[in-house]
Amino acid sequence: MLIDTYGRVATDLRVSLTDRCNLRCTYCMPEEGLQWLAKPDLLSDEEIVRLVRVAVTSLGITEVRFTGGEPLLRPGLVSVVGQCAALEPRPRMSLTTNGIGLKRTAAALKAAGLDRVNVSLDTLRPDVFKTLTRRDRHKDVLDGLLAARDAGLTPVKVNSVLMRGLNDDEAPELLAWAVDHGYELRFIEQMPLDAQHGWKRDGMITAGDILASLSTRFTLTPQGEEARGSAPAERWTVDGGPHGVGVIASVTRPFCGACDRTRLTADGQVRTCLFAREETDLRGALRSGAPDEEIARIWKLAMWGKKAGSGLDDPAFLQPDRPMSAIGG
Ligand code: SAM
Ligand code: SF4
Repeated sequence: MLIDTYGRVATDLRVSLTDRCNLRCTYCMPEEGLQWLAKPDLLSDEEIVRLVRVAVTSLGITEVRFTGGEPLLRPGLVSVVGQCAALEPRPRMSLTTNGIGLKRTAAALKAAGLDRVNVSLDTLRPDVFKTLTRRDRHKDVLDGLLAARDAGLTPVKVNSVLMRGLNDDEAPELLAWAVDHGYELRFIEQMPLDAQHGWKRDGMITAGDILASLSTRFTLTPQGEEARGSAPAERWTVDGGPHGVGVIASVTRPFCGACDRTRLTADGQVRTCLFAREETDLRGALRSGAPDEEIARIWKLAMWGKKAGSGLDDPAFLQPDRPMSAIGG
């Protein structure tokens, strides 16, 4: 098991497949992009599958989420999903994506064994999308969402980040749209993980702001801690049900005590937390011929050192060196 000194057990693995992306969301990446990882530094498809196998067969991982960067940019994605689906025990598998290209790949991903997707979409307005992501691809995302739903990658979840002065008036509109289309909407508070270090606590839209805005149009009933389990999103039932809405309030209502996550970067580093400042190298061990037992031992040791919390409220908080896109959000 991947247990830490606070008794938390990690059963959910987030795997970043690439640090590259075809969007430039303002809260994530600078306009000019970033210095991408060099190809030889990236784990190969075989290395990724091997690490997932070790995690599933020796370390108690039951849930695998592929992310990035933009994971649909990884040429071997469908094959990686297929190979992970053949593992015993078979992990549940999902993908976090900006949705561009999903129209083309949704059916193949489903056939390979992917269970569901989280698609990020912050706005229903094409012009605001273009300002927020610096790319004119709004329709591609909407098409990708429909394709995911039609392919049975359900429940299709939609992640939205609200930015002051850009899309912070859109929460009720986004919820009405999601309910209408059968998508599960979750708002994510903006976190200090942008490469530009532009995040400001007093500039962000909080969970409280989001709930106040939604309450102008909907009656929200909290679903409670029991229904939440270790999920990062707090959930509310909308207008008596059956639909719901979630808010991931990593900044104003952190949920570190229930965290069940471990992370793997595209270059094979274990991270205990999005906000961790330390990483543990697995790629070196892999490439020097270490057996599975040794990989598992290094991974366990890394997780044993997981900190109690994100440290966001500590006045000495320092952003991790890697931005969200390179950690794997
Ligand atoms: N490119 C894919 C996507 O956008 O879904 C996967 C990677 S992206 C880093 C994963 C999630 O992180 C997205 O939902 C995105 O909106 C969110 N994200 C990125 N930067 C963020 C930030 N600074 N604060 C909060 N969420 C952020
Ligand atoms: Fe790309 Fe996702 Fe970051 Fe947007 S949030 S720039 S889609 S990695």
